[in-house]
Amino acid sequence: NKQVILKDYVSGNPKESDMYVTTSSIKLKVPQGSKAVLLKNLYLSCDPYLRIRMGRIQGSNVFTSFTPGSPLSGFGVAKVLDSGHPEFKEGDLVWGTTGWEEYSLITEPEQFFKIHHTDVPVSYYTGLLGMPGMTAFAGFHEVCSPKKGDRVFISAAAGAVGQLVGQFAKLMGCYVVGSVGSKEKVDLLKNKLGFDEAFNYKEEQDLDAALKRHFPEGIDIYFENVGGKMLDAVLLNMRPHGQISVCGLISHYNLNQPQGFSNLLSLIYNRIRMEGFVVFDYFHLYPNFLDMVIPYIREGKIVYLEDITQGLESAPAALVGLFSGRNVGKQVVLVSHE
Ligand code: NDP
Repeated sequence: NKQVILKDYVSGNPKESDMYVTTSSIKLKVPQGSKAVLLKNLYLSCDPYLRIRMGRIQGSNVFTSFTPGSPLSGFGVAKVLDSGHPEFKEGDLVWGTTGWEEYSLITEPEQFFKIHHTDVPVSYYTGLLGMPGMTAFAGFHEVCSPKKGDRVFISAAAGAVGQLVGQFAKLMGCYVVGSVGSKEKVDLLKNKLGFDEAFNYKEEQDLDAALKRHFPEGIDIYFENVGGKMLDAVLLNMRPHGQISVCGLISHYNLNQPQGFSNLLSLIYNRIRMEGFVVFDYFHLYPNFLDMVIPYIREGKIVYLEDITQGLESAPAALVGLFSGRNVGKQVVLVSHE
């Protein structure tokens, strides 16, 4: 069983060499009388929060640290090979938290969702139809109260979550602008994902000026994925009673010192509601989300960009690449075909 192992706790920028790929010779099987399932992992999802779990976590009731010397784990799509659980049978396709390895023995399979729609690429259950899709849905439709005509800004807008928030906002009749880290991504937002405007934050000397150029009347909703200087600049451009959905702060995950902000008074002066959320609190809405999104996919109203690398060996580089913006769209690792 090939596995991706965390070498030691990570501090600062993650590197490929923080992980290694090895083969374990322990034969996995479902113990007699247990409710475990044996999975063959097909696709693994590279998500920024995995970096948080690679470090020493203090004071979080959401995540625990990975154990050095053990395989990483994260969301993935898998096929059931054997099951002691009455709700799962051999051949079922599922998504949920699995090991970064070829085969995983899961002792609590109740956390897995069964995959029923197989007329869409099954890798979508790591992204559009999985945790990132739920994140976009919850963070935009549940945390914010968007309405037609709202001016919406999204950072990390070509990624797993951002590309969907932009499309959901366009479907609601909003004006949508995204920031991304390359010209290629700017072009994708404007020409493929239907954003009204996009800019490359790496080429802007002054983020405040870039935002004023795209939002002369200010921002109603900011979908926050990055934090840092972008958040500080956004605070200067929010409209009164605007909303900030704090989904992620990727520019903070590799910092050893906390990031300070200069413009927080704007929250008060402009009566802004800024709210963080954790997608796990919204998983009970997954059926509602599918009811909304599956017809959109079938009607071609939503497209989804994926960046798929081949083989478990490619997983460390794929994960590390999230922090330099190497991924174009949702970063997925293909472990095995069905
Ligand atoms: P992405 O697919 O967007 O990948 C990360 C992207 O972030 C990179 O491609 C890069 O794009 C950008 N980025 C990386 N480092 C920086 C930096 N220092 N400053 C600015 N941009 C940077 O990831 P996801 O869509 O999966 O996740 C987006 C955010 O949502 C993350 O912060 C993640 O932690 C958060 N999240 C939160 C959840 C919740 O429950 N609250 C659930 C899921 C995700 P670019 O080229 O544009 O720089």
